[in-house]
Amino acid sequence: MADLTGLYQEVILDHSKRPRNFRVLDDATARAEGYNPLCGDRLTLYVRLEGDKISDIAFKGSGCAISTASASILTETLKGKTRVEAEALFETFHDLVTGKLGARDNLGKLAVFSGVSEFPARVKCATLSWHTLKSVLAGDTAPATTETEDAEDQAAR
Ligand code: ZN
Repeated sequence: MADLTGLYQEVILDHSKRPRNFRVLDDATARAEGYNPLCGDRLTLYVRLEGDKISDIAFKGSGCAISTASASILTETLKGKTRVEAEALFETFHDLVTGKLGARDNLGKLAVFSGVSEFPARVKCATLSWHTLKSVLAGDTAPATTETEDAEDQAAR
């Protein structure tokens, strides 16, 4: 973790120690589980959709600091967003942590993950919650895994 610089590192540590929206959402309309076998990160993501809007979102699980902080910031970022906005943010986040996109002001807290692109082994930790989100939005009940990303990541290198 000494690799991540100052403020970004602080934000990630804060969210990993005190994750936001870390609870079971009893009135969730959809949920999905995610697992990253490379690191052992596991989480369940709960979403309450009202029409096309994410009116509430929460998660439970256990994992490394990066995966927990990522899920925590994901829930903060997506509450109140529409399905289309959430899908666009998935693409933005994915590009950010795979180094296709530099940190920009309009990324908000997501920018703290820009340093992850330098550590390919941690990319899956950072994207686990986002892949799980995609499963939730797609209504996919099979557990999300980060493994589907392999071919794509290798092609990018
Ligand atoms: Zn991890």
